[in-house]
Amino acid sequence: MTDTDELVRRNADFVAAEFRTRPALTINPSGNMMVVGCVDPRVDPTRVLGLEPGEAAVIRNVGGRVTPATLRTMTMLGKVGAAHRDGRPSGDWNLVLLHHTDCGMTDLAAFPELLADYFEIPEADLAAKSVRDPYGSVRVDTDLVRREIRGPDFLVSGLVYDVSTGAVEVTVPPTPVPAG
Ligand SMILES: [Zn+2]
Repeated sequence: MTDTDELVRRNADFVAAEFRTRPALTINPSGNMMVVGCVDPRVDPTRVLGLEPGEAAVIRNVGGRVTPATLRTMTMLGKVGAAHRDGRPSGDWNLVLLHHTDCGMTDLAAFPELLADYFEIPEADLAAKSVRDPYGSVRVDTDLVRREIRGPDFLVSGLVYDVSTGAVEVTVPPTPVPAG
């Protein structure tokens, strides 16, 4: 088991080896990017997408899904970003949805009441959420973002990470959300 003492030791290494020498980071992601991914320990977006410190805001939940809670979090983060507008890089904002194969969402299909709560929809509508197929679910969620979020200068893309190969597939290329 990895215990807290071990984490504190690793943090001391981080401070000594990295933190003191790198440029100061801002609250706005330097890559103008947010990633929504799954809590699965195999699918850390920082590792599998090679994110640099400070490059992207990352939201992780079960399945990396765009739920009403995810949208509320995005709204809150939008306010935080606006409060620090001076530090925001120019250009398009990129929202990347990262789903993956062998996701635990598949196990949750046996608990429709939990999934209905999670998505805040009736159980009868769960089939539309494609919880057993990450290639389907990432399309469902990019479509949802395009309905719920308004541009301009906002791109959403959908990636699927294959846990058996380590490779991502771009299922939905970067697509603008409709202008508000
Ligand atoms: Zn997962």
